[in-house]
Amino acid sequence: MKQVIWEVRYVSPPPAIRYCKKCGRKSEFICSNSFRVNAQRKFLDIWLIYKCSHCDTTWNSTLYSRINPQSLSSEQLEQFHTNDRFLAEQYAMDTERLRRNGAKAGLPDYTIVGEDICAGVPTELHIMSRYQSQIKIAAILREKLNLSQKAFEQLLNSEQIKSVSVLDLQKCKLHNEIILMIGTDALHHESLKE
Ligand SMILES: [Zn+2]
Repeated sequence: MKQVIWEVRYVSPPPAIRYCKKCGRKSEFICSNSFRVNAQRKFLDIWLIYKCSHCDTTWNSTLYSRINPQSLSSEQLEQFHTNDRFLAEQYAMDTERLRRNGAKAGLPDYTIVGEDICAGVPTELHIMSRYQSQIKIAAILREKLNLSQKAFEQLLNSEQIKSVSVLDLQKCKLHNEIILMIGTDALHHESLKE
């Protein structure tokens, strides 16, 4: 069986979806890649700053609240003070943190990197992501295989696309990795047309 690996790469971190007071409705807040550090006596607060995509209102997502400054290394503190881009990205990818801070993670822009599946060749497909993602497996498969919703459903029903563990491939989201079996008839598009 041929093995193919696709990697889902984020082009940008997920936006934070939350109510914007100025806009008066829910809005997408985009990560600014900047931190705000506030040192007060013995305590330190650190936030990651987001901006409303419509009106630029800022929202601070809490990273550390009232911690002892000594619990961070001087190197880490320096990264916060200089708005280290990689560190900001790491925090921004943490959708669980957004949830704890009262926002919902929106869908990031992403690309799928990896070779195409060959028609007629049974394939073990690994789809991977460095980050826990909210992207649906179905969306990834349909995009990369260029399938209509109907064609995709037919392939699931005929088990030409199936997952190794039992998951609802219509609904489930890509966490870190999923392994799928792609059958020999999966990509004969002609047979799928009405
Ligand atoms: Zn706004």
